[in-house]
Amino acid sequence: MKTKHLFLISLAIMAMGCTKNQTTGINTDNLDTTAIPQNDFYQYACGGWMANNPLTAEYSRYGSFDVVAEQNRKQLNELIGGIAAGNHKQGSIEQKIGDLYNMAMDTTRRDAEGIAPVKPFLAEIAGLQREDLSAFLGKSMQCGMWGMYVDADEMNSSMNILKECQAGFALGEKEYYFDTDEQTLRIRNAYVKHIEKMFALYGYENAEALAQTVLRMETRLAGAAKNNVELRDPQANYNKMSVEEFKALVPEVDWDAFFAAMEITTDSLSVGQIDHLKEAGKMLAEEPIEDIRTYFVWQVMDGSASYLSSEIYAENFDFYGKTLSGKEEPSPLWKRAVGIVNGTLGEAVGQMYVEKYFPAKNKERMVQLVKNLQIALGERIDQQEWMSEETKQKAHEKLDAFTVKIGYPDKWRDYTALEIVAGDFYYDNILRAAKFEQAYSLSFLNKPVDKQQWYMTPQTVNAYYNPSSNEICFPAGILQYPFFDMEADDAFNYGAIGVVIGHEMTHGFDDQGCQFDKDGNLINWWTEEDKANFDARTKVMADYFDKIEVAPGVMANGSLTLGENIADHGGLNVSYLAFKNATKNHPLAEADGFTPEQRFFLAYANLWAQNIRPEQVLVQTKGDPHSLGMWRVNGALPHIDAWYEAWNVTEDSPLYVAPENRVHVW
Ligand SMILES: [Zn+2]
Repeated sequence: MKTKHLFLISLAIMAMGCTKNQTTGINTDNLDTTAIPQNDFYQYACGGWMANNPLTAEYSRYGSFDVVAEQNRKQLNELIGGIAAGNHKQGSIEQKIGDLYNMAMDTTRRDAEGIAPVKPFLAEIAGLQREDLSAFLGKSMQCGMWGMYVDADEMNSSMNILKECQAGFALGEKEYYFDTDEQTLRIRNAYVKHIEKMFALYGYENAEALAQTVLRMETRLAGAAKNNVELRDPQANYNKMSVEEFKALVPEVDWDAFFAAMEITTDSLSVGQIDHLKEAGKMLAEEPIEDIRTYFVWQVMDGSASYLSSEIYAENFDFYGKTLSGKEEPSPLWKRAVGIVNGTLGEAVGQMYVEKYFPAKNKERMVQLVKNLQIALGERIDQQEWMSEETKQKAHEKLDAFTVKIGYPDKWRDYTALEIVAGDFYYDNILRAAKFEQAYSLSFLNKPVDKQQWYMTPQTVNAYYNPSSNEICFPAGILQYPFFDMEADDAFNYGAIGVVIGHEMTHGFDDQGCQFDKDGNLINWWTEEDKANFDARTKVMADYFDKIEVAPGVMANGSLTLGENIADHGGLNVSYLAFKNATKNHPLAEADGFTPEQRFFLAYANLWAQNIRPEQVLVQTKGDPHSLGMWRVNGALPHIDAWYEAWNVTEDSPLYVAPENRVHVW
């Protein structure tokens, strides 16, 4: 449960100065010129794109971001597929990539094997007694009621500690277990049916009763869990204690046995969600052992479904893909195979990807652009009239202390210890990879934080800000059109990648990020008055989004999306200022029928061009801290003064927000 803030779509970039051959980067086919920009800017800027890119059966949402991800996937498939066609020395990185890919592609073999790969685990669970549970949970890669991982200590950010986080209910967001609106009921009922079908497919009798047991167990655990809004509070989710205190907190678990099975020792740890963990402990002591076994069997089934027969895969897709997300068909097999290799050997694949597809000059350009954005954010901080000099000084220190990562890591991961064996079950290889991942994470326990580590692979089409290291990261995968275009002018690149960069920087100063100091420690650096002012200003944003109806009867969640909405707001303001600074001495001309200022906002809006199914609207509204694409445009821009000027938006516009009611922060 890392608190990295992703952009979740993104970007492009710069081209400083004036070059005769520059393009505007604006694709007029993306526009819907029958729409009135002042009335519905999203439709105007993206309507053409939406008409030209209808959803295909495999997608529940498809947008600009997915176009780039799709292209990356094809490139990766060429690289990986080429390797998989050859013979390689056992233990070489090529052997691991190739064999894993070939196993992922081999449905004939998996269909013949049926549930044989999971039988040993199901047999182990059938024999579990209550006194075995602590050690079993410490060892199992498939079953769990809480998670354990290693990450930077929020109060001492240069050191790694052990962290606990809530887990153990497959729908993830607790509201799925309790809300009684029609959509949630539909999903919950389908979920129980799905569990029942899975028990039947794995050869169990009384599947209906077993499914009810699973729902009861998950509901009990979810009842003590925090919802996604509560999880956004870094103070409330940091509870560092000694192992002795920890043992006293949840005495039902034999923690010595648990940690021994995990093969770790530690004197202290931070508990993420105390109530949930205490409830898990009680359940292990109170629930009938048969029900605990049933619940663990479900976890094995749920976790293995993607790696067994086509029949089981299809049932799993039917619930998670179709019912929950509205997809009509699974992705083609090759995409799933690329996804597995990418997820398991990500940096090995990434190293090959950047060698082939990432030009060094892109990195140089990005470095310069980030610098310009950093200067602009500094100017924006100085312009804030509600902040004291004292707090501004601290904000500058934090801004100056940003670590910037672009393209790919300087140091690559070592996959020597990961064994991929073609003769073993595919599922066994997947479990071994999970164990390898866990061992990697645990190897940092109670050691200094490795500042060179990346939290995304270079081929990822995304970006992030990490509060505990105060770093922003822009992987190579996102540094391409329509996010970044070496040929395009500044209006385009500042509107696109510039806003992405500004977005990540602003995360350092959003409602969560502002609680971390320049060294990434969860230590307050605000005066009381400044913080009260900041909270009042950001509340305007939360209230505004709370009033947006995203589907009939369904409102956006302004508290859940507050951090991302602030980041979009800051990103737009900061990048617009950087754009103005960059073109001050040689302003751009009107082109393609638009002023440079108008093109800036068109380029931004186009990052969010997408089609989305109604089911996915609900999934994202419940669980995603990012606002829906449409509202990252039509919800964000009405708070940007420059947008009103560029597009001559007046009080007559349905999007109009009076200046005194706009968000004024960053
Ligand atoms: Zn973000």
